[in-house]
Amino acid sequence: MTTITLVQGDITWQSVDAVVNAANSSLLGGGGVDGAIHRRGGPAILAECRRLRASRYGKGLATGRAVATTAGELDARWVIHTVGPVWQGPGSDPALLASCYRESLRVADELGARTVAFPAISTGVFRWPVEEAARIAVETVRDAETAVEEVTFVLFDERAYKAFAEHVG
Ligand code: ADP
Repeated sequence: MTTITLVQGDITWQSVDAVVNAANSSLLGGGGVDGAIHRRGGPAILAECRRLRASRYGKGLATGRAVATTAGELDARWVIHTVGPVWQGPGSDPALLASCYRESLRVADELGARTVAFPAISTGVFRWPVEEAARIAVETVRDAETAVEEVTFVLFDERAYKAFAEHVG
C-alpha cells in the first residue's frame, strides 16, 4: 500500500527519492514548478534534458508521458519530468492527467524510487481546475500498482492543499 501525504509548500525542499516536475514537452524549462526545480537543482538537470532532446526525445516529451533525469543539487536522486495536459474547457480528457501520475510512478518503479513528491500537475499555467485535478491525482495514485511506499503531494497554496485534502482521508 502506498501512503499518501499532503504538504503545503515548495517541492524543491523535499527530501525524497524522486521529485516530479510539471514540465512542458520541450523539456527545456519553463515557469512555475519547472522553473523552481531547475533554479534550485542547478544546471545538471537542464544538461541532461538537452541530451534527452538530442537522443530519444527529439520531438520532446508527449503529454501524459514521463522521463527521469538526475536531480542535480536537490535533496533527491531523480527528477521525473512529466507533461500535463492543457485545460481546454469541460471536454478536457482526464485520462491524460491521470496518465502523468501513472507514468511517473512507473518510471519511479523502474528506478527503484520508494518515496516520490508530486506537485499539482496542470493546475498552474495549464489552467486545470484544481478541485478536479486533485480528485484525479489522488484517485490515480491510490489505484496505481506500484512499489512506491510514500507519495507526497506538495501543494504550493492553501487552495490546492484544501482541494487535495478533500480526497485524502
Ligand atoms: P502546469 O504547467 O502543469 O500547470 P505549473 O508549474 O504552472 O505547471 O503549476 C503546477 C502547480 O504547481 C500549480 O498549482 C502551482 O501553484 C504549483 N507550484 C508552482 N511552484 C511550485 C513549487 N516550487 N513547489 C510546489 N508547487 C509549485
